[in-house]
Parts: sequence; structure tokens; C-alpha cells
Amino acid sequence: MIFIEKVSAVEKRLKELRNLINYHDYRYYVLDSPEISDAEYDELMKELISIEEAHPELVTPDSPTQRVGAPPAEGFLPVRHRSRMLSLGDAFSFDELSAFFERVGRALPGEEVDYVCELKIDGTAISLNYEDGLLMRGATRGDGETGEDITSNIKTIRSIPLRLQLKKPPAFMEVRGEAYFSKEQFEEINKERSKEGLSLFANPRNAAAGSLRQLDPSITARRELDSIFYSLGYVSGISFGTHWEVLQFLKKAGFKISEYAERAGDSQKVFDFCSRWQERRDTLPYEIDGGVVKVNSLDQQARLGATSKSPRWAIAYKFPAEQKTTKVVDITVNVGRTGAVTPVAILEPVRVAGSTVSRATLHNEDEMRRKDVRIGDTVIVQKAGDVIPEVVAPVTSKRTGAERVYRMPKKCPVCGADVVRPPDEAVARCTGIACPAQIFERILHWASRGAMDIDGLGPAVVSQLLQKGMIEDVADLYYLTKEDLLEIEHFADKAAENLLNAIEVSRNRPLSKLLFGLGVRHVGSHVASVLAKHYPSMENLKGASYDDLVMTKEVGPRIAESVVAFFKQNRNLRVLDKLKQAGARMKEAHKAEVPQKLARLTFVLTGTLTRFTREQAKEIIEGLGGEVSSSVSRRTDYVVAGENPGSKYDKARELGVKILNEEEFVRLIGE
Ligand code: NAD
Repeated sequence: MIFIEKVSAVEKRLKELRNLINYHDYRYYVLDSPEISDAEYDELMKELISIEEAHPELVTPDSPTQRVGAPPAEGFLPVRHRSRMLSLGDAFSFDELSAFFERVGRALPGEEVDYVCELKIDGTAISLNYEDGLLMRGATRGDGETGEDITSNIKTIRSIPLRLQLKKPPAFMEVRGEAYFSKEQFEEINKERSKEGLSLFANPRNAAAGSLRQLDPSITARRELDSIFYSLGYVSGISFGTHWEVLQFLKKAGFKISEYAERAGDSQKVFDFCSRWQERRDTLPYEIDGGVVKVNSLDQQARLGATSKSPRWAIAYKFPAEQKTTKVVDITVNVGRTGAVTPVAILEPVRVAGSTVSRATLHNEDEMRRKDVRIGDTVIVQKAGDVIPEVVAPVTSKRTGAERVYRMPKKCPVCGADVVRPPDEAVARCTGIACPAQIFERILHWASRGAMDIDGLGPAVVSQLLQKGMIEDVADLYYLTKEDLLEIEHFADKAAENLLNAIEVSRNRPLSKLLFGLGVRHVGSHVASVLAKHYPSMENLKGASYDDLVMTKEVGPRIAESVVAFFKQNRNLRVLDKLKQAGARMKEAHKAEVPQKLARLTFVLTGTLTRFTREQAKEIIEGLGGEVSSSVSRRTDYVVAGENPGSKYDKARELGVKILNEEEFVRLIGE
């Protein structure tokens, strides 16, 4: 009996951890917008790994420990990597680094092993394909097997050669490296974003990934990304003996390689390298979060092999998070979209890991009590290379007795409604249905990329629209006029037109995105897609009873209850009505309902369209029965060319494929 209880507690925690990590992976890899610091994420992952090590029978193939990154996001054409792109195992201390050397030693008994040490630049991994010396395709890592096609964006990075500087280039070659921002560029981008009222990138890596994964290459081009290359994937016709030789080859071929890479004959030299760079990291123009240690011999690498997630011949030594002490000037609360009331420490500004920190989340009441953080405390704050800072602990020896324990408010500081914390939940919530703080967050959520994707509707704009009484809920966005928008500070003609256009286009987002955007509790983006699949119109979903809903695959009692409760509130029904009047899509576009006028036609998209993002153009074509392909061939029916088209345009001309400009495309789809 006791055994069963223990196992089920372990399984429960495993499930919780996997769900949490999957959620944070999605925010990090797909949305480029993490909610927690890397250090917190690493803690979750460490806990999961230790449970799985103790219970190997509970390891599942889809566990985050067995998987690299996340599959390609919608809106990008997929690129299959010829050889897999892996992650790296981590060592968080010299002991863990020693354990790595021991593992390598055990796997290669009696053999001498040389290592190469490199800096671990805080950027994002890219893979480039060269055919006969010409850059043909650039991709993200994605889930390691399949990445996202970002060729046009890659071409905006000036340090990447479009043609290899080799007399006899291989017929095919995959090159792997890192695209990254300098510290200066990173700060610059965040400054710009803050001016525009957009959310800040959490760290240089998310900024690089976010910039590369733009559907509009002109945005990528405006941000000066740089690159460093460190390995080859599949190559035809050449072979190498060591990793060091590969680096020299890459240099000769015209790539930037790290000037700080070193050959280390033994493990002591590796420790020296890591300690040296831990101290010197501030002297570099870009952020590094550790060192990467690789076995030099490619033959030994091949014999060591890899797990499903990372090679056994390499490891990332992660520097400890940079910590500073400062004072808690005050504690207040932040009210989120679902009414979650989160305590936040207001700090005496302090510089940590390259930026100034003046607020840090305390997560929830229990966490604040557990850490015992009080107003007036001196606290240790840390940022493991991130912008999201956290309070690690108070320095109790510095207490004077004047510190005050913060009590969570009983009333919402924004709207005055009761704050209630259900007995079995960690989170306290504001119960005010019309709470302006919740409305503000809800509108931001509606506009976010995974929901209605309204570019230009950031916090500064939303806050003014609410203050000026121009909107009260998401549906009001669709009734805004250009005159309204021109009343917003710093909004000139062009910005107003762009925003109106983005709002207009969002009416056509699929039902699943609209459902996600509504922010119904427990309905995340995946559940929204599941619901839209089973209930292909808002009317169907509204008519579904609790019993219908719980019978739906992947929908549990919590979700069912929440959906039913949502449709019971007149206020919500009024918003849905207004959305419907505004022409928002309340039905999933079914192939049979929509005339399949593009059936059996294959399209290739290139360049920037002004009226649609790539994703939207793709959705429209597919909705009308057509197909979108990533490369032009004789079988392509149309190439749709926007501004600054890429090489696909030339290829289409060469092959005599019909090219449509944006006007012609709009006429063809009949909008
Ligand atoms: P990783 O970043 O720890 O290591 C692998 C990556 O290192 C490679 O893909 C490559 O991009 C990079 N790299 C840099 N220099 C390199 C070099 N010289 N040689 C080889 N690779 C080099 O692993 P990951 O799987 O990309 O990401 C996991 C990490 O991301 C976690 O440790 C965590 O800190 C962070 N993460 C955070 C969140 C969050 O919510 N905060 C979510 C997911 C992941």
C-alpha cells in the first residue's frame, strides 16, 4: 500500500514537471518569450532528470529529457536536417565536469583524449546548407530533426558567406553555428522595444531567435545579428580527423569561428579555460553563459555517440548565475490577465549581468513566505544571463528589526474587488470581472503572436486606448477608427494605418487562435485547437454541455467546467456578439464549406507581402485547397513575390514558373 502511494506521488510529480517544462519550452522556443529565469528552468529539469534516473521505467520517449527544443512553429516552412542538430548536456559545477571526463574515460578505456574548449555564446543555433559552394538554405534547430526555413533572414547576416571561399566546394555541406547579438545591440533592441511599448526580450538568445524567426526579413535586417560557426553536419566528399581541423576548414571557407577556441590536452587545461572565462566574461562584446568542451578526435566522437538529446562527446559547463545584493524598497502586487495577484519586490536599482534590475517577481504568497522576504530586507538577486530577475534569499544577518512582513491585499489594488485564494491553490485572484488590470493583460494576450497576432498593439498603446475609454474589451478593437488611433501619443499616420491593418487582418485568424485569445481559463493554445477541431463553430462550442465536453479527447473536468462557466456569463456573450458583428471568424474554415478554387495548385512564397504575413498567406492558400511548398520546381504553379524577393524569384524566372505580385495574388484568391 505504502509502495503504491509512493509510486503514484512520484508519477504525479513527473507529470507535473513534464507539463511545466513543456509549457516553458513552448514559451522559450516557440514564442521566444520565457516567463521564468533559466536558473529556475534548469532546477525543474534537474529535478525531472533525477526522478527519471531513480525510476528509469517511467521514462517516456516524449519526456522533455529525451527531446531537443520544439518542433517548427506554424508559419515557417519546415526544413529537414540531413544530420540531426542536438542540444548539449550540462555541467553546473567542476564536479559535474569531472564526472563528464570520467564517463568519457570509461567509454574509451586506455585511450588518450584531447579536448577543444569553446565559449558558449548566448545566441541561437542555425544550420546552413551550401550546394556547390552557394548558400541555398538557412534553418533553425527546431526539434533537432526538422527546423524552420529562415533563409531570407539568414541572408541579412553580413558575416555569413553567400558563396564559400573554396576552390573546390563540396557538392553539399551543412554548417552549424550560432547567430547572436552583441551586448550593445541587445540593449539597443530592448530600448527600442520599450519605447514602442513592446515586451522586452528576456536575454540575447531569445532576442536572436525572435529576430531570426521574423516572417518579415526587413525586420531581421534592421537588427544587426552576427554569427560564429563551430561544426559541420552532413558533408559530401570530404572527411576530417579532428574537430580542430573542422574549425580551420570553416575559417578557410569564409566563416567566422571563435578566436578564443583552444586545444586542451588534458582535463586540467579545460578547468583553467572555464575559470578564466568565468572571470573574464564581462570583457567580451557578447554574452556567454559558459564554455563548451568537446572531444577533439572525430573517430572517438563517433564511438562515444549520442543520446536522443545530446552528444556524449561534448558538454556545456554553465557559469553560475551572477548574483548581487540590493534592498527591497517595497513589495506590491501585479494583477495578471486571469486575475492572478502576484507579489513583486521593488528593488533599489542594481546592475546584474549587463542590465539594471529594479523589480523582481516573488511568484506567490507561499514562495514569498518560504523565502521570508520582507520590505526593507537586503536581498540577493540573480539573473542567469536573463532579464527576468529573481530574489534568491534575504540576507538575514543584515536585518535591523525595521523590516516589515508584507501581507497580501484582501482587495484588488486596481479595481477594489475581493482578492480570493482558493484553499488548494497557490495563486490569489482578483474577482473583479471588469478589473482594468485584467482587461489590460487580456487585450495584450489577444494581440499576442500565438493568438490574434496583432503587430504593433503593445502595452503602451493598449494602456492609452483603455485610459482614453476607446476600448473596454477585445471586441472594441475592431471598431477603432484612424481618427481614434491618431489620438495616441507618438502615433503618426503610418503607425495608425499599420495597426488598423493588423487588426483588420486578425479577423481572419482561425477559430482556434480566437478561442486561445479569449483567455478562457485552462484553455491554452493546444486545448484551443482541440476544441476548435471538435466544435468547429462558436455556436457548437457554446451549445456543448459539461458532459459533452468531458467526453472530448484531451478535455478534462477542469477545462470542461471552465468552458461552460465562460459561456454562462452574459458579459462574455456580449463580447462574442460584438466580435461576430465585426466579422471575426467564428467558424473553423472547413475545406468543404469554402470553394476550393486553388485545389491541386502549388504555391511558393518569397519576399515580403504588405497585406499578409507569410503565415496568413499560407493559411489562405491552404484554406482554398492549395498547397504551399518551400522550393520552386517545374511542378510549382505560382510563385507569389512580395517586396525584396529572394532566390526563389530568380529560380521561378529561370524555370518559366508564373510569378504573381501581391495585387495579382489578391485577385486570384478573390479577396
Ligand atoms: P543549451 O543552450 O544548453 O546548449 C545547446 C546550444 O548551445 C546549441 O544548440 C547551440 O545553440 C549553443 N552553443 C553555443 N556555443 C556553442 C558551441 N561552441 N558549440 C556547440 N553549441 C554551442 O541547450 P538548449 O537545448 O538549446 O537549451 C536548454 C537551455 O535553455 C536550458 O539550460 C535553459 O537554461 C534554457 N531554457 C530556458 C527556458 C525558460 O523558460 N527560461 C525554457 C527552455 C530552455
